[in-house]
Amino acid sequence: MMQLFRPLDMLGWVYRTIRQGLIDMAEMFRLMDTAMEVTDVPGAPALLIHRPMLTFDNVEFGYERDRQILHGLSFEVPAGGHVALVGPSGAGKSTIGRLLFRFYDPWQGRILIDGQDIAQVQQESLRAHIGIVPQDSVLFNDTIGYNIGYGREGAGDAEIIQAARDAAIWPFIKSLPQQLETEVGERGLKLSGGEKQRVAIARTLLKNPPILLLDEATSALDTRTEQDILGTLKRVSEGRTTISIAHRLSTIADSDLIYVIQDGRICEQGTHGRLLRHDGLYAEMWTRQLNEEAELPEAAE
Ligand code: ADP
Ligand code: MG
Repeated sequence: MMQLFRPLDMLGWVYRTIRQGLIDMAEMFRLMDTAMEVTDVPGAPALLIHRPMLTFDNVEFGYERDRQILHGLSFEVPAGGHVALVGPSGAGKSTIGRLLFRFYDPWQGRILIDGQDIAQVQQESLRAHIGIVPQDSVLFNDTIGYNIGYGREGAGDAEIIQAARDAAIWPFIKSLPQQLETEVGERGLKLSGGEKQRVAIARTLLKNPPILLLDEATSALDTRTEQDILGTLKRVSEGRTTISIAHRLSTIADSDLIYVIQDGRICEQGTHGRLLRHDGLYAEMWTRQLNEEAELPEAAE
């Protein structure tokens, strides 16, 4: 019986996951191969959050047995705190997000939310508490209202409009002749990168999760759009426990705490000011980015 039902469960899971806009398509196919390995323990209780604090406790992980990616990673995010993960490409930052969402289980160590091991609670309840804004948000070939409404089953137009307002995309939608009924995607209206990110933010607002994961949420945008969206994300993340993964350091400089990840280890941590004074990898990355910005003329528009 299990053999019969599990593929169907899997389909349901994939469907819900895409619906929530949590992963892009290429990632989805990869995850379909692995997600079967992550299952609920029998009788797992729902995750109950009073104070949404996160703890990574000595986490070891790799995608393949012979290649370890995270090496005994330990860190905390206090409830309502804003923490940034920075570091070279391939350091393991997105992997940390995938483990938090329990796409995979760690080899060793534990990940706790408000003191509960995420491997011991219902996956559905875990994922209901975490909102992800990825680098490139996926929209479905459907109406813009439908795309926002994915955030919460059964949401009415009034709630969808409020979420669109909070994500600063309502004036745009309102200007369209068919408003929320406007078809978007391949067959409909093409949205710009910034508009797509705002739809994803509106969707996340409708979900109203206590924990937010922003994985390079603005890195695909031009500098001006990035500044706009960052302002919106700042408002949206107020009062929520937030992990921001960022390439451009200027976008996370005001975080409560910055962890610098290199080769799956935390090599430095502190506030922006402290890390600059420390004069290590972070300071080096900061100086390099300042120079790059000074050299590169802003793209002509
Ligand atoms: P970052 O987000 O810091 O750029 P990632 O966490 O995405 O880095 O990746 C860390 C390492 O894990 C990289 O070497 C990457 O190639 C590898 N990796 C990521 N996803 C997979 C996967 N599904 N299978 C095998 N290796 C992977
Ligand atoms: Mg990444």
